[in-house]
Amino acid sequence: MTDTAKFIYSDAYSQYDFGATHPFNPVRLRATKSLIDALHLVSDDQLVLPAPATIDDLVRAHHRSYIDMVQHFTNLEDVSNPTLLKRAAAYGLGTEDDPVFPGMHDAARLAVGGTLAAAQVIAQGEAMHALNLAGGLHHAKAAQASGFCIYNDLTVAIHWLREKTQWRIAYIDTDAHHGDGVQQAFYDDPHVLTISFHETGQYLFPGTGSVEETGTGAGQGYALNVPLRPYTDNQSWLECLERIVPAALQHFQPDIIISQHGCDGHYWDPLTDLFATTDFYAKVPALVHQWAHTYAHGRWLATGGGGYEIWRVVPRAWTLLWAEMSDQSLDVNTPLPQSWLDTWQPLSSPPLPTTFFDPPESFPPVAQSFAITQQNRETVDRLKRLIPWL
Ligand SMILES: [Zn+2]
Ligand SMILES: [Zn+2]
Repeated sequence: MTDTAKFIYSDAYSQYDFGATHPFNPVRLRATKSLIDALHLVSDDQLVLPAPATIDDLVRAHHRSYIDMVQHFTNLEDVSNPTLLKRAAAYGLGTEDDPVFPGMHDAARLAVGGTLAAAQVIAQGEAMHALNLAGGLHHAKAAQASGFCIYNDLTVAIHWLREKTQWRIAYIDTDAHHGDGVQQAFYDDPHVLTISFHETGQYLFPGTGSVEETGTGAGQGYALNVPLRPYTDNQSWLECLERIVPAALQHFQPDIIISQHGCDGHYWDPLTDLFATTDFYAKVPALVHQWAHTYAHGRWLATGGGGYEIWRVVPRAWTLLWAEMSDQSLDVNTPLPQSWLDTWQPLSSPPLPTTFFDPPESFPPVAQSFAITQQNRETVDRLKRLIPWL
């Protein structure tokens, strides 16, 4: 098997759209793909067009009654039908976070199909690495839409891989929010290790992800959580990753790493309080890539996730991710192509950055930085005391 990478993408991804005022804006995927194309980072033979996930795929992770409910919303009358909306509310649908829209089933199952396509190319040995930026919908539960996530592509793909390959799967989540849906799906499963780094649930949705959540039954010890203090910076977050992940992978011996790369922990992200910069979003993929080759036979499936500064942050963060996966030299000093800036600047009120590098002077250090780093260290120490093999 060669060290090749596939980029899973469809223009139809942009149909996953909760409306103009909703923060989860699919234009971020187009802006990212446009930046990747402007830098000539993806070739025709790397591109894979996903097929929508089928009902048989979705039932691996979701109750049939929930899928039926999502399927009800096909046209404009459905989304304003009060009887239907009342029934949908029991499934977390029709809320401010997860409004209903016509065609939501087809839009959501295409995002799942993308992560399944990534799993398939790796399982079949066509590529070592595969990326689905429309995936990473880590909050969706078996019978519940949550946090902008309708179907959980990660849970579906992990179940699919377990069924087809029996691989041991390590899931690493660096979205600013706790990866609660994936954790819940495999909480009692010793074959799936979930590790989530996120802003502490004391201050941020979904409120879970404390150090004490470590799995149950046979899965005891196979769910790891590092809740970070608000205003955590690159250095402290990376230190937490390095103190936990290699030891966990060394012990767990995964056959594949699946990573979720939500970039909503960036300083400029409007929904969270973490202080990462693009330097972090270059270093995390580099670490995960190295870990995949060291601990997981080189197999690495990556997805997108959250990211709500859709012009200044998401395109750069996820282009850095793809460049790393596909072994193309791109560093934080690479300038952004003028053609890309000309296309997207009119849509962003703040001026777009002109390099991948976030100049440190734009991110003044916080006074409590030392205390925050210490508190995160203590959190990692607590986790290490709870899990003897860490
Ligand atoms: Zn590689
Ligand atoms: Zn998030």
